[in-house]
Amino acid sequence: MKVDFLNLQQINARDAQEMLSACKDVIDSGYYIGGEKVEAFEAEFAAFCGVKHCISVANGLDALNLVLRAWKLQGRLQEGDEVIVPANTYIASVLAITENNLIPVLIEPDDNTFNITAAGIESAITAKTKAILPVHLYGQLSPMPEIMRIAEQHGLLVLEDSAQAHGAMLEGKRAGVWGHAAGFSFYPGKNLGALGDAGGIVTNEDDLASTIKALRNYGSHKKYENLYQGLNSRMDPIQAAMLSVKLKRLDSDTEQRRRIADLYIKNMHNPLVTTPFVTEAAAHVWHLFVIKTQHRKELQAWLAENNIQTLIHYPVPPHKQQAYAQLNHLHYPITERIHDEVLSLPISPILTEEEAHYVISKINEFTV
Ligand SMILES: *Cc1c(COP(=O)(O)O)cnc(C)c1O
Repeated sequence: MKVDFLNLQQINARDAQEMLSACKDVIDSGYYIGGEKVEAFEAEFAAFCGVKHCISVANGLDALNLVLRAWKLQGRLQEGDEVIVPANTYIASVLAITENNLIPVLIEPDDNTFNITAAGIESAITAKTKAILPVHLYGQLSPMPEIMRIAEQHGLLVLEDSAQAHGAMLEGKRAGVWGHAAGFSFYPGKNLGALGDAGGIVTNEDDLASTIKALRNYGSHKKYENLYQGLNSRMDPIQAAMLSVKLKRLDSDTEQRRRIADLYIKNMHNPLVTTPFVTEAAAHVWHLFVIKTQHRKELQAWLAENNIQTLIHYPVPPHKQQAYAQLNHLHYPITERIHDEVLSLPISPILTEEEAHYVISKINEFTV
C-alpha cells in the first residue's frame, strides 16, 4: 500500500464537473477580476465563519499584511509598535509584522497544543505592545477567550492567523470571529484550497473592511481616486468560483479529517511517539496531524520505506532563518525542540480507513 501525504488531484477530482462548469461561467462572463463570483464567495465565507465581512485578497500573507497596514492607516498601530506572535509559526505570520515595520515579539508555545498561552502573552506585554497575532496552528484554535480578555485589559488589537483553521471552533465560535480581524489562506493545500493562490480577511468592523477593500485595489475606493498607496491583491473570479464549490463540502471534509484523527489517536500506541493533544474534540479541523518523536529521522525513513509519505511542519523556526539574521541569537527551547521533533502524518478528507490503519500499524511497529 502507498499512502500519499495529500493527494490534491484526487481531492479536486471529486468536484471536477462542477468546477469545470463554474470555470466555463467565468470564461463566458467576460469578467476576469472581481465581480459577482468574487462577491458571492466573500458573502458565503463570511456566513460560514459567522462574521459580517469577508474581503478576498491574493493570498494569506497579504491578508495578514493588509490588516496590519489598515490598522496603521487608521492610526491604531504605529511603526515600531510591538506585536506578540508565536515563535513556532510559519514564517508568513512574522513577515506580515516586519513588512509593516512593526516589531515581532516571539513567544514560546505550549508544548502540548503548539499554540501560545495566556500566561506567555501576559509576560511578554510591554508599554509598546499594541497587538497580538495568535496562530491557530495545525487547525486547533488558540485559547481565544483568554486572549481576548487580556487584549481588552491592555487595549490590544488581535489579528488571528487562521490560515490553517477554516471552521475550527471553540465555545461554538469559529476561527476568525474572535479577534478584531483574521487572515485566511486558500492556498491549494489548505483545508479550503483554491487552484492557485488566494486569501481572505474576515472582520465585523465596517471601517476596517472598507479600508482593506481600497488597499487591495491600489488604495482606491473609487476608480481613479486613490486615498492610499495601496497594492494589487485581488482574488480572481475563477478562484472564487472554485472556492464556492469547495466550501459546500468543507464541513463534511472536516468531519472526515476528524474521523481519521480519532482513529490515529485511539490506535497509535508506540511509546516513542506522542500523538497530538486536543483541547476540545469538536474544535480541531486537523489541517495537519502532527506527532512528536525524538527519533524523527529514523521514523520518517521507516515510514518512507513503507510507502507512507510524511512532511515536517516546520524544520526551521523563523528566528533561525537567514531572513531574520537579527533574531538568530534568540533562543526558544520549546519552539526549537518542537521543530526538531514534529512529523506530519497523512491526513485528508479522502484518506481511507484502510490507509489510516496501515499508517497506524507501521507507526506501532516502529522501533529504534
Ligand atoms: C499558509 C499560511 C500562511 C500564508 O498563506 P499563503 O496563502 O501561502 O500566503 C500564513 N500563516 C500560516 C500559519 C500558514 O499556514
